[in-house]
Amino acid sequence: MRTLMWFTRDLRLEDNAALHACRHADQLLCVFVVEPAWFEPGPWQCKPLGSHRWRFLWQTLQDLENQLHSRGQRLHIAWGDPRKVIPELCHSYRIDRLCLSHQPGSYEARHLQHIRTAMPGLAVNAYASLTLFEPRDLPFAINELPGTFSAFRRLVEKHRLAPRKPIPTPTSLPPAPGVPDDDRRQLPPVPTTPTRPLMTGGSRAAEAHVRAYMDGGFLASYKVTRNALDDWNASGKFSPWLANGSLSVRALWDAIVSFEQRVVSNESTYWMQFELLWREYFYWYGIAHQGRLFARDGVQRIKRHGSFYPQRFRAWQEGNTPYPIVNACMKQLRETGYMSNRGRQLVASCLVHELAMDWRYGAAWFEEQLLDYDVASNYGNWQYLAGVGADPRGWRQFDLAKQARQYDPDGTFVRRWQGDSQEQVPLYTVDAADWPIG
Ligand SMILES: Cc1cc2nc3c(=O)[nH]c(=O)nc-3n(C[C@H](O)[C@H](O)[C@H](O)COP(=O)(O)OP(=O)(O)OC[C@H]3O[C@@H](n4cnc5c(N)ncnc54)[C@H](O)[C@@H]3O)c2cc1C
Repeated sequence: MRTLMWFTRDLRLEDNAALHACRHADQLLCVFVVEPAWFEPGPWQCKPLGSHRWRFLWQTLQDLENQLHSRGQRLHIAWGDPRKVIPELCHSYRIDRLCLSHQPGSYEARHLQHIRTAMPGLAVNAYASLTLFEPRDLPFAINELPGTFSAFRRLVEKHRLAPRKPIPTPTSLPPAPGVPDDDRRQLPPVPTTPTRPLMTGGSRAAEAHVRAYMDGGFLASYKVTRNALDDWNASGKFSPWLANGSLSVRALWDAIVSFEQRVVSNESTYWMQFELLWREYFYWYGIAHQGRLFARDGVQRIKRHGSFYPQRFRAWQEGNTPYPIVNACMKQLRETGYMSNRGRQLVASCLVHELAMDWRYGAAWFEEQLLDYDVASNYGNWQYLAGVGADPRGWRQFDLAKQARQYDPDGTFVRRWQGDSQEQVPLYTVDAADWPIG
């Protein structure tokens, strides 16, 4: 069979079920599609892919290419709309089977449906490479996904669901059917790497990071340190690699189990697995709710206030609100592409409650800026914070001053990121007739 392996958010050779399924193909074309739409502002005034993640993605693709090379393969990086690019490649190389990993987003599902319709003779095989479990492992049908994370976790624990074991890495791959014209010269320029990058893309870097975190013993105290705003080893920092699939979540789970056997099994090791279950929950939540993931009223269809105020949105994005802790987090995000989980909760609460904005503007800004943007985790968490998602309490507003006292008692974090600089702009101004503008 002539097979096309379409890499998407599974940018690795290790534990990649879709790639594994290609190992007996007669010929194999490996493809990644960079979409022009990722670089254009969308309806929420933000781009789907900002410079931090574009650099990280590019590093990841180079790493993947090197590994494919060492197995006699190559990576074709195409530029265009996959609904056009994939069928064209399938025609040119007389491909009869398309292999890829299942993805949770409705945008990706629509693309795949379009390709299926355009090419009825093409076998399309999608595999579960991004999750701990497979749909058939779950003790419920996807459309009966529990409405809260706690109910989901209880079911997982009650049924003693064990994550799937990672599958072997291919040592060799079938030959490529030819060399498509390279689209690389058309790609937007990749931003230069900062002198001290926070994270480097690629599965080699991911492996090294997991090893350093485990060997350093940081996992043993994760439960107590995880809420820190700015401490590198306080939390795992696995998310950017997990998000583009250069790190397998099953391999990470195995590394935690191995740590428990070799070093210690305690509340912290349990809590790291607990957090990975949150990721898992949101993945299935994305599959179950599809387009409602992006609906203002969320999966609960609850009407909440929230509008668009350009001035407030700009102040929030730039870290110029009246809340120093929020400003520091937002500046950290702009500069590094990362923000702690605690920080994300605070800035989301600020946007929704203090600034009375439609939560989707915040989610879209995160999508542009975050190194670890993941459609299901991002929109699922934003819905949760906005009180329209999987939160049984329905409404979470953080007392920002109290949170600052608790998590930044001596103000080090705010000072480091200049959260209290004097640039603040008024969030609310009126025109001559006293109507609010911005
Ligand atoms: C408003 C908001 C938006 C978010 N957007 C994203 C996103 O786009 N991509 C993303 O990966 N995470 C997102 N998160 C979840 C969480 O903030 C990050 O996963 C975490 O901060 C990543 O840092 P870490 O790897 O050090 O996490 P750790 O604390 O070390 O946790 C380990 C892993 O567990 C998973 N995890 C932890 N907390 C969550 C959570 N609340 N939801 C889902 N998975 C979780 C992540 O895969 C993470 O890498 C968001 C949270 C909020 C509140």
